[in-house]
Amino acid sequence: MLPRLELAHLPTPLWHHAELDRVVGCEVWVKRDDMSSGAAAGNKIRKLEYLLADARARRAAVVITCGGIQSNHARATVLLTAELGMASVVFLRVADPSQSVPPVGNVLLDRMAGAEIRLITPEQYRRRNELMAAAADAIAAGGRAAYVIPEGGSNGLGSLGYVAAMREVEAQLDAGAAGGRGFDAVAHACGSGGTLAGVALGLAVTRVAPRAVAFAVCDTRAYFEAAVTPMIAQARALAPELAPPAPFDVRDEWKGPAYGVATDEQKAFIVEVARRTGLVLDPVYTGKALFGLARTPDRPARVLFLHTGGLPGLLAQGGELEVALG
Ligand SMILES: *Cc1c(COP(=O)(O)O)cnc(C)c1O
Repeated sequence: MLPRLELAHLPTPLWHHAELDRVVGCEVWVKRDDMSSGAAAGNKIRKLEYLLADARARRAAVVITCGGIQSNHARATVLLTAELGMASVVFLRVADPSQSVPPVGNVLLDRMAGAEIRLITPEQYRRRNELMAAAADAIAAGGRAAYVIPEGGSNGLGSLGYVAAMREVEAQLDAGAAGGRGFDAVAHACGSGGTLAGVALGLAVTRVAPRAVAFAVCDTRAYFEAAVTPMIAQARALAPELAPPAPFDVRDEWKGPAYGVATDEQKAFIVEVARRTGLVLDPVYTGKALFGLARTPDRPARVLFLHTGGLPGLLAQGGELEVALG
């Protein structure tokens, strides 16, 4: 058994609202991973249960990771390392590192929890793995062990969090949730691929659904198909009981104008869902994914949608949503 810390509040609820079925146009059950914790909630905490257990086993004093300035992954990592008594260094991508960053949303929480924040340009971000490795070496030279977590917590070890999540859903079905019946597909937002790798592996060893549909919020279908292959191989090397992954589709036609930028139609959809169901989606990930599902002509009849979190990012982007508030 690989070590795993109990950090999340599990199992997260399986939530259904008849009005959401009408908005999306199929039967939608929502796995509320936005409720997996307090401020550390979202999908990253499931990956971090494995990654931070590994960091601890290696006696790391400092955890290093990276992301966009409003990274949910960086925020979850920073809060959980603070909880565990470790320090954190986060490389955050901004257009211009000489400009000051307002303390809102995720970066507010990063600063509250005492992370060392290093702002980097999009160009430097392309070399993020080198930058993080160099930072780890410098910390090691100072006598402390550092542990590097890749973007999004997405590697084979992190993806095991979503294998465990699919087992959790199966146990909920066995206990009678959602009528006890499996789904036609699991749908979710895809940003760095680790969730998809874990879901595809988890579906192969459970009766949750025969396939996954991942809605890219950046990059392309080809990019993610290539990115998840080594994660899946790594996960299977770590957990040899896993079978080859279930089939999955990556849809990249609903990602909007750019990462972190939504269309007015997507913003209107997010507001409509909040008004008709009380469910709050975020404009970077979950809002685009559920919008994509609602616009997919051949969408499955009965879907498990993973609500992967993102609330702090939404709260930092209020100005951009204003057009949809009426
Ligand atoms: C990171 C993130 C995702 C994407 O998960 P990946 O494993 O990086 O593909 C989806 N939704 C939210 C809210 C996230 O923060």
